[in-house]
Amino acid sequence: MPDHKNTPTLVKCLIWDLDNTLWRGVLLENDEVVVPDAIRDVIVELDARGVLHAVSSKNDHDLAWERLRELGLADYFVAARIGWGRKSDAVREIAGLLEFAERTVAFIDDQATERAEVEFHLPEIRCYPAERATELPGLPEFTPVSHTADSGRRRTMYQANLRRNAERAEYQGPDAEFLRSLGLRLTVARAGEEDIARAEELTVRTSQMNATGVHYSDADLRALLTDAHHEVLVASLSDRFGSHGVIGIVLVARHASSWHLKLLATSCRVMSFGIGAALLGWIADQAARAEVHLIADFRRTDRNRIMEVAYRFAGYEQQDCGCAQELAPGGNNIERLHLKPVRQEPPVTLALAAPDLTG
Ligand SMILES: [Zn+2]
Repeated sequence: MPDHKNTPTLVKCLIWDLDNTLWRGVLLENDEVVVPDAIRDVIVELDARGVLHAVSSKNDHDLAWERLRELGLADYFVAARIGWGRKSDAVREIAGLLEFAERTVAFIDDQATERAEVEFHLPEIRCYPAERATELPGLPEFTPVSHTADSGRRRTMYQANLRRNAERAEYQGPDAEFLRSLGLRLTVARAGEEDIARAEELTVRTSQMNATGVHYSDADLRALLTDAHHEVLVASLSDRFGSHGVIGIVLVARHASSWHLKLLATSCRVMSFGIGAALLGWIADQAARAEVHLIADFRRTDRNRIMEVAYRFAGYEQQDCGCAQELAPGGNNIERLHLKPVRQEPPVTLALAAPDLTG
């Protein structure tokens, strides 16, 4: 994320100790422990910003979870490790479950020894003492640059994802069969003003799945909405567990004999669902019907090799073709991958709804 070097890495998940951190007192000594309003406000505010909450507590599991329910807070926690093991193990497990890098996870506990134990084993985890809880929303690492509707829904999307993964772990059949059982629905639509904040967020967040590593700013994207030669498209995904929200962006410039695929980025969260391939197949089919070639910008970064694989798999090659003459030079180590598209069969693992770009 070259544009965000000066801001600290954002915390994606805050893991809470319970006794004398989340609530006042020790549950096993007093089952009427209460959560101060100021702490409740921190939980709700960070949740609205898209920061997930989890629990790591040395406690009786059933008793502690029941108390969180009674307090009306259980739904805010996407994961809980409540037991008598090491906190560092609990924190590592939660980070693994959510597939978050350790540097994006934070831990808050009133016990200096527990914080030291986590820091010793997991030096990248950010640890905070309990008395700093109410300061957290004011810290830059808890303050995302942009707020979108999807930030507010991030928790429910992760909760659905965890249920989905649990089913997947139990599912014995081949992968395509599992994907079909999800009832995936991919919807591509021309972006409106209301989609731009989320689209911009995707170009920043999707470093593994961004074919150019280019960050299009909010203003750049907004300007392209009204440009007759450009298509700004957003892809959203849902399945029988619920919505994944907007998970992809495609930016296409139309020329007389080619369409220039300037940006294709999809969320890492949906990497295993074959969304990149489905989008590339759809664009190839549209271009074949419009009788134009496709030229895709690709810039190698140290994280996006999977996108190169996706383009190669879809048949894109480095190739001299007259259609490239219509494009301004790429620059900045951008490779131009070329495809003479052919009509495509509709995807078999998902239902696709998309506009007709050929008109
Ligand atoms: Zn060509």
